[in-house]
Amino acid sequence: MRVPKIVVVGGGWGGCAAAAAARKAGAEVILLERADMLLGTGLVGGIFRNNGRFTAAEEMLEMGADIFSVMDNCVTHTNVEFPGHKHASLYNVYRIEPAVKEYLMKLGVKIFTTARVIDVAKEGRKVSCVVVEGLEPIQADAFVDATGTSAVPANCTKYGNGCAMCILRCHSFGPRISITTKVGVEEWIGKKPDGSSIGAMSGSCKLCKDSIDPQIVKELEEKGSALVPVPLEVREEEKLLSMKACQQYALEEFIENLVLLDTGPVKLMTPFFPLERLRKVPGMERARYEDPIAGGKGNSMRYFGFANCTPELQAIGPVDNLFCAGEKAGAMVGHTEAIVSGTLAGHNAVRQVIGEKLLRFPDEIAVGDFVNHVIGEMKKEEGRQYKYTFSGSIYFKRMKEKNLYTTDVKVIKERVKKAGLKSIFDTKLL
Ligand SMILES: Cc1cc2nc3c(=O)[nH]c(=O)nc-3n(C[C@H](O)[C@H](O)[C@H](O)COP(=O)(O)OP(=O)(O)OC[C@H]3O[C@@H](n4cnc5c(N)ncnc54)[C@H](O)[C@@H]3O)c2cc1C
Repeated sequence: MRVPKIVVVGGGWGGCAAAAAARKAGAEVILLERADMLLGTGLVGGIFRNNGRFTAAEEMLEMGADIFSVMDNCVTHTNVEFPGHKHASLYNVYRIEPAVKEYLMKLGVKIFTTARVIDVAKEGRKVSCVVVEGLEPIQADAFVDATGTSAVPANCTKYGNGCAMCILRCHSFGPRISITTKVGVEEWIGKKPDGSSIGAMSGSCKLCKDSIDPQIVKELEEKGSALVPVPLEVREEEKLLSMKACQQYALEEFIENLVLLDTGPVKLMTPFFPLERLRKVPGMERARYEDPIAGGKGNSMRYFGFANCTPELQAIGPVDNLFCAGEKAGAMVGHTEAIVSGTLAGHNAVRQVIGEKLLRFPDEIAVGDFVNHVIGEMKKEEGRQYKYTFSGSIYFKRMKEKNLYTTDVKVIKERVKKAGLKSIFDTKLL
C-alpha cells in the first residue's frame, strides 16, 4: 500500500500532537507552522496535570500518546497547588519547544517553520494541496487544520484592548489563516448569547523573574506557586471576572491575590494588569512584563473560528479529507485538551486515507466523554458561550459527576484496557 501523506497546518500543541499521531500510525507527515517556533500559545502556558487533566494525560499515555512524556521531562515543578487547582505540573516554557521539536524530528515528521499557509486547492470533495507563502504548493492525501483560534490582530483591536504584542507575533509572521474557512466549512465564534462579549481574552501573562522581589522568587522556586495579596485599592474585580477566557480561574482568590506560578519566568494568572497598579503591590515595585510585552494593557483574543466537525474530528462540509485539531475543533481550553483532540485528528486522518473506520473515543473514558460532549455542545448556540477544560469550570464538574476523574493510575490503565484502546496511538495502521 502507498504510504499516505498527511499535512498538518499549525504547529501548536494540537498540530504537534496530530503530526505525532499520524506519523506513528504510519504516514508521511509534514507540519507547517507560520511562526519561527512550534507550540503557538503553548510557548507561554505551562500548566498541566491539574485537576482532571491528570486523568486525561494518563489515559492518553496509556493509549500511546507519549508527547505527554515530553512535557513531563520539561517540568519545573510537580504536585503544585494553587486556588481551585490540585496536583499541577508546570513545564518550563523555555525548554519545552526545542524538546517537542526534537521529539517530532526523531519520529520523522518533516517540520517547516515560517511556513504560513495562505490558500488551499480542492478537487471534488478533497483538499488537494495547500499554498504556502514562499514555498511550492504542498499536496497530500489528508489535511489537519490546527491553526487555533487566535493570531488575528484585527480581532484583538476590535474585541480586546489592541495588540498587546504577544508570543504569536502576528505582525512579524502574518495573521492566522484558517483552512476550514478557506474550503467553506461552517465556523463559529465563542460569544455570550446576548452578543455582549465576542471571543475571550487569554488568561495569563509572564513577568521577568529579575523584576520582582527576590523573596517572592525564592518562594516560587521552592513551591512552584505563590500568592501575593493585592491591596484593596488596587483590586479590579469587575474587569477580571468579566474578561477571563479561562473560566476555571474566575475565583475570589484570584482577585484578592496575585496568583504566581514558576514556569521559568513568573506566570501571573490574570489576563492583564495595568503596570502602574501592579507596581503598587508590595514586592512588585519594579515588575516588568515579558509576555505579552504590553501585558499592562491587554492580551491576545481567542475563540474565533471553531469549525463544525464530527466527534471523530472530521470537518463537516464540502470536503472529506480535512480534520480539526486543538481549539479549531471547539471551545476546548488547554494544552492537554489540544493534545487529546490533535492526537485523535492526526490518527483519524490516516484512517480516512486508507479507508478504515474512523476512531471515535468511547464515552467511558474521560477523554472520550470530553470530546464527544464538547463537539455536541458546539452545535448549540448556548453551548458555545462556555469554555471546556478538564481542569475546572463546567466540564470538570461533569467529569466528577460521571466518575471519570481519578488520580489512580491503576484505575485509568484498566479503563483504557477495557475500552480496547491500549497503545492504539503507538500502533501502525499499515
Ligand atoms: C497566555 C496563555 C497562557 C496559557 N496558559 C495555559 C496553561 O498554562 N495551560 C494550559 O493547558 N493551557 C494554557 N493556555 C491555553 C492553551 O495554550 C491553548 O488552549 C492550546 O495550547 C491551543 O493549542 P492549539 O494548537 O489549538 O492552538 P495554538 O496554540 O493557537 O496554535 C495554533 C498554531 O497555528 C499556527 N498557524 C495559524 N495559522 C497558520 C497558517 N495559516 N499556516 C501555518 N500555521 C498557522 C499558529 O502560528 C500557531 O502556532 C494558555 C493560552 C494563552 C494564550
